[in-house]
Amino acid sequence: MREPFIKFENVSYSYEGDEEGILLPPVLKNVSFEIEKGSFVAVLGHNGSGKSTLAKLINMILYPTEGRIYIDGRDITDENMTEDDVYDIRRRIGMVFQNPDNQLVATVVEEDVAFGPENLGVEPSEIRRRVDEALETVGMSEFKRHSPHQLSGGQKQRIAIAGIIAMLPECIVFDESTAMLDPRGRAEVMDTIERLNRENGITVLHITHNMDEAVRADRVIVINDGRICIDGTPKEVFSSVEQLRLVGLDVPQVTELLYDLENCGFDVDHTELDEEKCADALAKLILGR
Ligand code: ADP
Repeated sequence: MREPFIKFENVSYSYEGDEEGILLPPVLKNVSFEIEKGSFVAVLGHNGSGKSTLAKLINMILYPTEGRIYIDGRDITDENMTEDDVYDIRRRIGMVFQNPDNQLVATVVEEDVAFGPENLGVEPSEIRRRVDEALETVGMSEFKRHSPHQLSGGQKQRIAIAGIIAMLPECIVFDESTAMLDPRGRAEVMDTIERLNRENGITVLHITHNMDEAVRADRVIVINDGRICIDGTPKEVFSSVEQLRLVGLDVPQVTELLYDLENCGFDVDHTELDEEKCADALAKLILGR
């Protein structure tokens, strides 16, 4: 079997309380999972379930209280990791956060995108090439000389993504990166995320509490109270309607409608996630009667 790109082995994490050295109760509890290279995985859970903590462990912003984490076969919880090793992991796994304003550092878009590779000591001509390519990938080339502050939320987030891509990461963790955007911005960013995975082969971990976004992944991992409670394809996960409701999550509207109809005795399949197919099923139901 292929080596997973990310592997968590019995990982627990506790934050420190106000008193030094005293740990609070764990917010991640004995979590184990593997993420295949090139996959698009959504991590779903309501607020406070531990999703951001998990993201920060992958990017080495936090260090597990217990357990081991492997990136591309390398044990990043090993005490012998040097500062350079940590830097290398952070370059290979980029992170995009919730608030685009906190991630933009320069006053001109192209300078902002160049910031990461500049810090890595990349040659100027190579930086130019990477910046142009990254802006092209997120569909923002025409804005390269604009000030980021004149852009919409979705456009700013795409610039933040370009800044990460310019460092040539193998994986990007999106931590609620669509949560602050309007519907149009969300759609722009989701399309960009999907393209990065499908066309550029970047492994994507998309942390969200939005069901309709999670449906677009290859795999959905549901976290509740610091533990993985469901893990499967979107179809498998969203067919567990009762289990999702138990952990305080809704299901996509399509699933909810079909599930309720099924429970009322109608002949429909509630595991269908595609809106058009749902409409077909409803039409058949109505015309058939
Ligand atoms: P999510 O991303 O799913 O909203 P988080 O990982 O941010 O969840 O938080 C999980 C739990 O850890 C929550 O109960 C939160 O209050 C707690 N927590 C997060 N950050 C800290 C911190 N710096 N110190 C103490 N507790 C924290």
